[in-house]
Amino acid sequence: MYTCKDAINLLQNLLDGEMSPEERQHLREHLAGCTPCVDFLRTYRATPELCRKALAEKMPKEVSAKLTEYLRSRIKSAS
Ligand SMILES: [Zn+2]
Repeated sequence: MYTCKDAINLLQNLLDGEMSPEERQHLREHLAGCTPCVDFLRTYRATPELCRKALAEKMPKEVSAKLTEYLRSRIKSAS
């Protein structure tokens, strides 16, 4: 079973357009049983800033740190 950290790594691949069908399947399986990750996806599409705050409260520290790092890099590359 994939952990949240693994799922986030897969999400990065997805957003970068580099995801194999196998990885996509793993991600779907994880999301099927993980509310925090589903909430993340939902919030991420709406407002990244809100997402970061929500994640800091809801997700394991390791995961939120990874996400913060990820979102920072996305914001940096977008500007
Ligand atoms: Zn998860």
